[in-house]
Amino acid sequence: MYEIGHFIDGKRVAGKSGRTADIFNPATGEVQGKVALASTSELDAAVAAAAAAQIGWGATNPQRRARVMMKFGELINRDMDKLAEALSREHGKTIPDAKGDVQRGLEVVEVCMGAPSLLKGEYTDSGGPGIDLYSMRQPLGVVAGITPFNFPAMIPLWKLAPALSAGNAMIMKPSERDPSVPMMIAELLQEAGLPDGVFQVVNGDKEAVDAILDNDAIQAVGFVGSTPIAQYIYSRATANGKRAQCFGGAKNHMIIMPDADMDKAADALVGAGFGAAGERCMAISVAVPVGDKTAEALVERLVPRIEKLKVGPYTAGADIDYGPLVTRAAMERVKGLITSGVEQGAKILADGRNFRLQGYENGYFVGPTFFDHVEPHMDIYKEEIFGPVLSMVRRKSYEDALKLTMDNPYGNGTAIFTADGDTARDFASRVNVGMVGINFPIPVPLSYHTFGGWKKSAFGDLNQYGPDAFRFYTRTKTVTARWFSGIKEGGEFHFKAMD
Ligand code: NAD
Repeated sequence: MYEIGHFIDGKRVAGKSGRTADIFNPATGEVQGKVALASTSELDAAVAAAAAAQIGWGATNPQRRARVMMKFGELINRDMDKLAEALSREHGKTIPDAKGDVQRGLEVVEVCMGAPSLLKGEYTDSGGPGIDLYSMRQPLGVVAGITPFNFPAMIPLWKLAPALSAGNAMIMKPSERDPSVPMMIAELLQEAGLPDGVFQVVNGDKEAVDAILDNDAIQAVGFVGSTPIAQYIYSRATANGKRAQCFGGAKNHMIIMPDADMDKAADALVGAGFGAAGERCMAISVAVPVGDKTAEALVERLVPRIEKLKVGPYTAGADIDYGPLVTRAAMERVKGLITSGVEQGAKILADGRNFRLQGYENGYFVGPTFFDHVEPHMDIYKEEIFGPVLSMVRRKSYEDALKLTMDNPYGNGTAIFTADGDTARDFASRVNVGMVGINFPIPVPLSYHTFGGWKKSAFGDLNQYGPDAFRFYTRTKTVTARWFSGIKEGGEFHFKAMD
């Protein structure tokens, strides 16, 4: 049994509120640790310390800040195994998947090693007689990140790397379900040379989140989690005058055209549907074959592949395909939704509700579940299940399949499998979804592009990481400067063009 407090002013400290949450081992159902839940006054004290530390950090030149990122990247690589183990122990995902979680965060750190070039300003020489204009990108001050359980390394790294390299201090409020990795990340940042107080981890629940939203010193909030909470945080943060970018849930569709390579499409659906037990915001949860022949060809290939999937604890080794869900409540909710699918008339071709694993009877496992003949009015279509459940919605034509995808309220990711470049281009151009895969099931963009959904999957106007992150974490100041050589007319009283 271990205890996790907060990371304040360069060290781990115990919580003072007297409130804690249990940290479960999802494979066994046992409580393995406790995490402190911060009070408003603890959060406010952490923000005050961060504000004091930010002054020096913001004045540090960008290249020196980037060198901290270089060292940090090196340390993440050094500790990759340790980070992955801690991540799997609390989240439940397999070790290779946990390493992927760290790796896709590290890639954003790598881009931030070149942050100075993204922080350069703009300059207009001789915008008027003797007049020059220049725009600077300056840090906001103290910013906050609020992150979900499903990528406890990647998403904190997506936020902290651009925020810190742009000269801000950051308060990170990670998920209370798997808080170990963010604490380890804070220690690595300090080892990399980040001054004390510039990055603080404050663990907590709604009380800490609300304290962030109401603290006047916090200038911006970056959130990732479910849609109702994203919408709540966006509304309250912006009402309090903060910048906010809040990324929410998803229901990602993959269209399979009759000319697609069916084996490759089936492999892609199994990996993208069941990897990480479906607990990915970019998981494919809806397969949309065009035409009954395509649907039959897929069913024939999917069922044997699904039956072969190996589900187990991360300790069972690399040949496990996916692990348990994160909590008992998540498991029960997913099983309840599967039952609703059966009751509402979908055809269940693989049923994971009664999955049992000897020695892990109390773990939060759900076996792979596959429904055919799902219709849009059913709860398994309407809800983000966030579990190992793949639904197939048959459509007669490409236009019908496109319409289904576009009518869905979520717009995080989508994919099309086809051999026809013209169809693929049409899809990429017309679909109202933020990230599109062409014969590529999980199109999470590389770290020098940006990540963001549309519709109910994101609130705010800038994406995560890449150039957008530097726009989000800086503000522009524009200077108009004049030097008086040869201009001696005296005062000017009219607002006028410079020329
Ligand atoms: P969640 O919304 O329950 O929690 C996210 C964060 O909000 C946590 O830090 C949590 O402590 C906090 N929180 C929870 N309830 C709150 C409340 N009532 N008031 C204030 N704060 C609250 O999400 P989760 O279960 O941790 O993560 C899964 C969700 O995240 C899924 O919906 C998934 O699609 C989404 N997600 C989205 C993206 C994306 O980039 N769009 C990426 C990963 C996950």
